[in-house]
Amino acid sequence: MSVKFKKLALIGIGLIGSSIALAARRQGLVDHIAISTRKPETLAEAEALQLGDSYTLDPAEAVRDADLVILCTPVGAYKSVMEAIAPALAPGAILSDVGSVKEHVVKVLQPLVPEGVQLIPGHPIAGTEHSGPSAGFPELFAGRWCVLTPGPEVDPAAVEKLSAFWRAMGSQVECMDAAHHDMVLAITSHVPHLIAYNIVGTVADLEADTKSEVIKFSASGFRDFTRIAASDPVMWRDVFLTNRDGVLEMLGRFLEDLAVLQRAVRTGDGPALEAMFTRTRAIRRSIISAGQETAAPDFGRPHEAPPAAEGDETP
Ligand code: NAP
Repeated sequence: MSVKFKKLALIGIGLIGSSIALAARRQGLVDHIAISTRKPETLAEAEALQLGDSYTLDPAEAVRDADLVILCTPVGAYKSVMEAIAPALAPGAILSDVGSVKEHVVKVLQPLVPEGVQLIPGHPIAGTEHSGPSAGFPELFAGRWCVLTPGPEVDPAAVEKLSAFWRAMGSQVECMDAAHHDMVLAITSHVPHLIAYNIVGTVADLEADTKSEVIKFSASGFRDFTRIAASDPVMWRDVFLTNRDGVLEMLGRFLEDLAVLQRAVRTGDGPALEAMFTRTRAIRRSIISAGQETAAPDFGRPHEAPPAAEGDETP
């Protein structure tokens, strides 16, 4: 089966949309890339970066005659985008997305999908804390999972074609039920982001309250939280508004486990703390051996040698 699409329409051209444009172009997966976004300045930036072949502020114009349409906006924009594009979607087209939640997406998009259009929601488990058209790079999906959540009514040939598209961009593809996706991502991504937003917020308040030096001396652990907490506020607002059930379920479990740790600290229960930390260290090692993280110290950050001290004679 050919992986190639005649016309790919990307609605939204931030980190994920621009990475798809660059990867699909590099791998020769599309003849034409049509780009649409909300703000004229973002569209102009995408054009200056030569991410596509045609550019428009009208999403309906972008999807006309497209055999693959991928929504790459924050999930909160899907309803208005879908209302605009539905009448222009070509029969037989594949309609997909990259949103970080899936059950809500199906609920919003499904009722508006025209007859003959194949809705295959998707989620590349890949990203950075950067946003916008210039944040993308073609290797973003290499070695990362992409989850697809097609309903039972979808043509299996369309699912296979979209899977082949993602595989050609370097991803491994897995199909699952949308609700299951939301539960898994709640604990692996959404709750960790909530914790990062919370801890960085707490430190910022503390800094303001006490004029302490927590930010100045915030090494390693806190610094890594700040990277996650720098992620796009609108995108993450939408994740928590649309995966409420998954997040609350996993947050409940997290809080129970945190209470156990709190008790171990309060009672000085060393064996309990050590047993827990040994278990978590094993999880990190299994993530590294699954190729989803680097074993390099300090996440592979480059470390420059400090400048030589004055009077240092070392050559
Ligand atoms: P991003 O860099 O902030 O880009 C979002 C894009 O959507 C921009 O082009 C923005 O353009 C456009 N947009 C925003 N509101 C819009 C609206 N109402 N109508 C039309 N276009 C609109 O975001 P991203 O990181 O690429 O995320 C996009 C999607 O990917 C989200 O649904 C997110 O859940 C998902 N995702 C993100 C990551 C990640 O790590 N970032 C990972 C996996 C999946 P304007 O400037 O024109 O508004």
